[in-house]
Amino acid sequence: MKYKKKKFFIENLSVNLLANKFKTPCYCYSYNKIKENIIDFNNNFKKIKPLICFSVKANPNKTILREICNLGLGADVVSIGELMVALKSGIKPSKIVFSGVGKTFKEIDYALKKRIFLINAESKSEVLAIEKIAKLQKKRVNIGIRLNPNTDAKTLRQISTGKKENKFGVSENIFLDLVKYIRNSNNLNLKCLSVHIGSQILEIKPYQKMLSVLEKAIKKSQFDFEFIDLGGGIGIDYQNTNKKLNLKKYASIIEKFLKGKKSKIIFEPGRSIIGNTGILISKIIYIKEGYKKDFIILDTAMNDLMRPALYNARHRIIPSIKNFSKSNKIYEFVGPICESTDKFSSIRNFQKLKEGDLIIICDVGAYGMSLSSNYNLRPKPCEILIKNKNSQIISKRQSLKDLI
Ligand SMILES: *Cc1c(COP(=O)(O)O)cnc(C)c1O
Repeated sequence: MKYKKKKFFIENLSVNLLANKFKTPCYCYSYNKIKENIIDFNNNFKKIKPLICFSVKANPNKTILREICNLGLGADVVSIGELMVALKSGIKPSKIVFSGVGKTFKEIDYALKKRIFLINAESKSEVLAIEKIAKLQKKRVNIGIRLNPNTDAKTLRQISTGKKENKFGVSENIFLDLVKYIRNSNNLNLKCLSVHIGSQILEIKPYQKMLSVLEKAIKKSQFDFEFIDLGGGIGIDYQNTNKKLNLKKYASIIEKFLKGKKSKIIFEPGRSIIGNTGILISKIIYIKEGYKKDFIILDTAMNDLMRPALYNARHRIIPSIKNFSKSNKIYEFVGPICESTDKFSSIRNFQKLKEGDLIIICDVGAYGMSLSSNYNLRPKPCEILIKNKNSQIISKRQSLKDLI
C-alpha cells in the first residue's frame, strides 16, 4: 500500500478506482500484507514453533479467515458465533481456542461437541460448568486456566486486561486451587496456563513482567503445563513513527522462559496480523467552516470505525491523491452521526481539501469492521479484498432494506 506518483494504491489498484467501483465508505484489505504479516510473525518466533491462533474478534470476515487458515493459523474465539465462523472458514477444531469470561452452557456444549482443542476458563464457576457438560457428554476435555497476572500493559486504559481490577482471568490463589481441583477431575484434562494482558502493547516490560509472574505461578502449582498460552496484544505502528514492540527481544525472553520446561507456546495475535492490512476509504460530503478550524464532514462515521470514539484511538488520515498544497486551517475529520465523539482526528497542515475528495483512514484492519454498528440506522459498509490484482467483495454493503 503506497503512493505511486500522487495516487494511493493497494497493490496495483488505485483507491480512486476502488471507490468508483465499490462506492464509499468501503473497507479494503490487502491479501499480500496479511501474508507478509503472518510470514514475519512466524519468522520472529521460529525457534519457539508456537501454535498461532488468530484472534477472530479482530476481524471475523469469513473470506479473510479462510485466507488466514490457508496460511496455517488456527483461531482464538470468544463466542459461539466466532466459533461457528472459524469452523465454517475451514479452521480445524484441533487449532481452536475458546476464551472469554462469560461462556454460556450452550456455548460450552457446542464447543465440546465440536471437539475444539482448548477452552481457557476464567473462573471457578466456569470450570465447574465445563466439567458438568463434559460429564453429560461422557468426555474428558482439555482445559486451560487464565491467570490474571496483575500486570500493567502500559497501553490505553480501555484495552488493558491484565490488572487485578479487570474482570479477566483468576488470581494466583484461585489458580492454584483450580490446578488441584482439575488434576482430580475425571472429565477435565489440565492442558494449559493462559494469560492475555491487553492490546496495542509497544513495550517489552509488561511482557517481561507477565512472564516472571507466570514463572512463579507455575513453580507454586508444581504442574507441568503442556501449553502456555501467552495471548495476543502485540501493538502496531499507528502513527508511522517506527515505534514498535521489539519482537526479537520478546522471542528471546520467551525462549529463556521455556528453558527447562517442556511446554509449547500458543499465541493469540489479532491486531498484529490484520491491523495494518486494511484501509477505510471515505468521501468528503461537506466542508464546514468552524471557529479556528474546518470540519471535514465524511461519509464514514463512528458506526463504521468506532475505535476513536470508544478508546480515543488515533488513526492516520491521508489523501487519496496528493496535491502538495497546505491548508492554513486545522482540519477536523468528523462523521455525520449525532454525537460529538463522532470524530476521527484533528490535523494541522493537511493538504487543501475540497468537497467530493476521497480520504483514507489507515490501519483499520483490526477492530474496525468488527466493532461497527448500525447506529443512526446507518448501513454497514462493504469490505473488499485485493488479492493478486483482483478486487473481490468479501462482505456486501448493507442495504436499507436489510435494516428497515
Ligand atoms: C482480544 C484478545 C486477543 C487479541 O489481542 P490483540 O491485541 O488483537 O492481539 C487475544 N487473546 C484474547 C483472550 C483476547 O481477548
